[in-house]
Amino acid sequence: MTPGERGLRVRMIEAARRMNASGINQGRSGNVSARVEGGFLVTPTGVPYESLNLPDLVFMRRDGEREGTYNPSSEWRLHRDIYEKRPEVGAVVHTHSPYATAIACLRRPIPPFHYEVAFAGGADIRCADYATFGTQALSDHALAALEGRRACLLANHGVAALGSDIDDAFAMAEKVEALARLYWQALQVGEPVLLDAAEMATVLEKFRTYGRE
Ligand SMILES: [Zn+2]
Repeated sequence: MTPGERGLRVRMIEAARRMNASGINQGRSGNVSARVEGGFLVTPTGVPYESLNLPDLVFMRRDGEREGTYNPSSEWRLHRDIYEKRPEVGAVVHTHSPYATAIACLRRPIPPFHYEVAFAGGADIRCADYATFGTQALSDHALAALEGRRACLLANHGVAALGSDIDDAFAMAEKVEALARLYWQALQVGEPVLLDAAEMATVLEKFRTYGRE
């Protein structure tokens, strides 16, 4: 294990534990992965995050080989396909965070009810079609919903959040949950007024230049 990979494994385990502390995880349902040379590292299935050690993360090689004591998260196909098809992505966080998952159970997207929806890359956060957890169909539906986006809901399941690195993907997962909670709260008292396509295009353009001005 190189020093660089060791540092990455430390950050992944910290992120996995932070999911519980921040409330975006439900039990052991969430998982975290990060791209490395020749493949990606992903949290194992069935191991509580509190007792995760550095060697417990599973190395999934691009040739399909696995290195590690435990089996990878059941959603390893989703993680693998994102790294194959989205070269800009360096990390993926998958959660069953409560408010976002509640919206996903309605099979609704998160519409442009708030300008920060654009953080995910477009005018809405789509909800992927339903498929059984851990299947290739789930991954295929998620990749379609992630087109041009850094996050999507998974129908009757949860959330997939992408980022350039672990912290970025984690922040995206938290943002989706915060937006879902606001959307849910707005729906309690009425139908939120949605921003139109022109306004969301303006916001997206501002986000693209944000921090460079
Ligand atoms: Zn899941």
